[in-house]
Amino acid sequence: MENKKALVWLRDDFRINHNSALVYATENHEQVSTVYIFNPEDYEDKREAQRWWIYHSLINFKQELSKFNISLELLVGDEAHILKKIKTADKVSLYWNKIPEPEEEKKEKKIIKTLEENNINFKFFKGNILSEYKEVTKNDGTPFKVFTPFWRVAEQVYLNKVPSKKSKTKKKNKKIFIFKESSDLSKVLPNKNWFKKFEKYWTPSEIKSDKVLNDLIEKKIGNYHKTRDYPSIEGTSKISPYLKHGQVHVEKIWETCQNIKNKNTGFRKFVNEIGWREFSHSLINYFPQMLKGNLRKEFDTFPWVENKKYLEAWKRGITGYSIVDAGMRELYETGWIHNRVRMIVGSFLVKHLRIHWKEGEKYFRNTLLDFNVANNVASWQWVAGCGADAAPYFRIFNPILQGEKFDKDGKYVKHWVPELKNVPTKFIHRPWEMDDETQKSVNIKIGKDYPLPIVDHAKAREQALKAFDKITK
Ligand SMILES: Cc1cc2nc3c(=O)[nH]c(=O)nc-3n(C[C@H](O)[C@H](O)[C@H](O)COP(=O)(O)OP(=O)(O)OC[C@H]3O[C@@H](n4cnc5c(N)ncnc54)[C@H](O)[C@@H]3O)c2cc1C
Repeated sequence: MENKKALVWLRDDFRINHNSALVYATENHEQVSTVYIFNPEDYEDKREAQRWWIYHSLINFKQELSKFNISLELLVGDEAHILKKIKTADKVSLYWNKIPEPEEEKKEKKIIKTLEENNINFKFFKGNILSEYKEVTKNDGTPFKVFTPFWRVAEQVYLNKVPSKKSKTKKKNKKIFIFKESSDLSKVLPNKNWFKKFEKYWTPSEIKSDKVLNDLIEKKIGNYHKTRDYPSIEGTSKISPYLKHGQVHVEKIWETCQNIKNKNTGFRKFVNEIGWREFSHSLINYFPQMLKGNLRKEFDTFPWVENKKYLEAWKRGITGYSIVDAGMRELYETGWIHNRVRMIVGSFLVKHLRIHWKEGEKYFRNTLLDFNVANNVASWQWVAGCGADAAPYFRIFNPILQGEKFDKDGKYVKHWVPELKNVPTKFIHRPWEMDDETQKSVNIKIGKDYPLPIVDHAKAREQALKAFDKITK
């Protein structure tokens, strides 16, 4: 390699291990630096929660990189414009890992053009995915729209090419800086400071991510199929924000799972969820129109309702349906929400309130720490019935029964909706049914201290089905 210096453009890659671009740069160059580019355009009105995660990731990763004599530089602005500043005369080679999303691919193409025009040496690697979407197709070369056959083929494609041994990031002799000045890391933080609370729940680092993965393997995966649906139990991995920001590569999760001796139903179920993530990525890349609208076009005429009051009640967790409110409050407080509850709150928004799934997608995009375009858009369309292999629109979750089934003793609700903490279990998912005397005995007035349901379940269900009829006729 004729260039002595290398620059690694960090994106969703806050890890030392299993980081192809970083490994390659440290193996092939004497001196290496890294750059994170914060492009404010990507955060206009969105991804506020993730700015908190990125800020802490930068702080922690800078320290880890330092142990390898690698610096981390933060630049603010447009990626192509910034990367162009690497002068040919400086003889710096540029490396990065891809992000498997259509918008990011567009961005990469623009950057590649600029780099070529400026004679800058570069190379890029597969992103945080098992297989690139083009590798997994039906026999006739067309994309899958149904999960089970997709995953059967996708697993096999990956198994056929699992890398045998991975090289490691190498320590360098001396630190270098490529850019004249680096911005202060706090530039990344959002303006609002509601995110302060996240510190109680999360540590955005590779070390913590490894612990989360170990915990999954040692304590959770064996019973995953039994516990994953109960929000009061920590039955799922909670690895999603680490995976989104690349504190862990999905290949590492896969390999760690494969090393388990007892490959029981829990193991299988968990690995399938990793498969759903692959499926979502395949969908948005093959059908990028999904990012803007319904995959199933018949939904384009669905009579959605615009109702700011209901939307606000949903966001703030004051709908009067306790499991919905608990979920939305968990989200706002922690930047994360349990999968079962994501389905319940999602269904409530698009079916009981008949508000467009795009509103839900937008709110999640802003508040979820694990937001990723593929999973979020595909899951919202799954919930609304307008996506691939989706839950049919006419199957409407009853939030009362969902609560009684998956939060039987009301532990989850009582934790997130403390107004209801003394409500007898019998009424915890239908508090409006308590008579005056019962309400008095537990010191609550429904309609004053906690809202009455904003819509009646039976009526809302009927109206949703009527609306659905309109698009199927
Ligand atoms: C309306 C809605 C919006 C969602 N938005 C997102 C999002 O923006 N980002 C996101 O990562 N997930 C999203 N999901 C999927 C899922 O809820 C989360 O991945 C999961 O709750 C994360 O928690 P965990 O890491 O404990 O999951 P685990 O159950 O431990 O699963 C492990 C990993 O598998 C993947 N996974 C699990 N369930 C799904 C699924 N249904 N679809 C795709 N991948 C899955 C995730 O990467 C997850 O981290 C959404 C689901 C719904 C219903």
